[in-house]
Amino acid sequence: MLNALLSIMESEVSTTGECFCGEIRYQVQGKLRDGRSCHCSRCRKAFSSQASAYALVERREFEWISGQDLLTSYVSKHGFGLQFCSKCGSTLCGIFNGFIHGITLGCVNGDPEVEIGKHIYVGSKASWEVMPEGVVQYNEGAPESD
Ligand SMILES: [Zn+2]
Ligand SMILES: [Zn+2]
Repeated sequence: MLNALLSIMESEVSTTGECFCGEIRYQVQGKLRDGRSCHCSRCRKAFSSQASAYALVERREFEWISGQDLLTSYVSKHGFGLQFCSKCGSTLCGIFNGFIHGITLGCVNGDPEVEIGKHIYVGSKASWEVMPEGVVQYNEGAPESD
């Protein structure tokens, strides 16, 4: 009984996010998973930052609330892409083969109850980035990273 109640409450955990201008908004009806930060040169450019900050979502738990018509996609030849706001430039999510794959943590509102659990491709980080002590880091991809 209690377990059933808890699982109902858990399924109602909702995370929202939006771009810088606020026109595009989404919600995730469920938990974010596998928060990670990738320091490779491609992620640095894609995120205009020292690294990515990204967590996975379940496709069926993700939904756009507003502004979806402003979304622009950039898809690489491997089928992986990013979607961003054509008005303000915020990168909101990653897609794989046309479906939502994960969201950028920078656009999440409030506390999504997920942490960056690993830093990957630290071996190719920018020369100007100083890694904080004590974080889990890998020179390349993490084992069983997806
Ligand atoms: Zn925007
Ligand atoms: Zn990367």
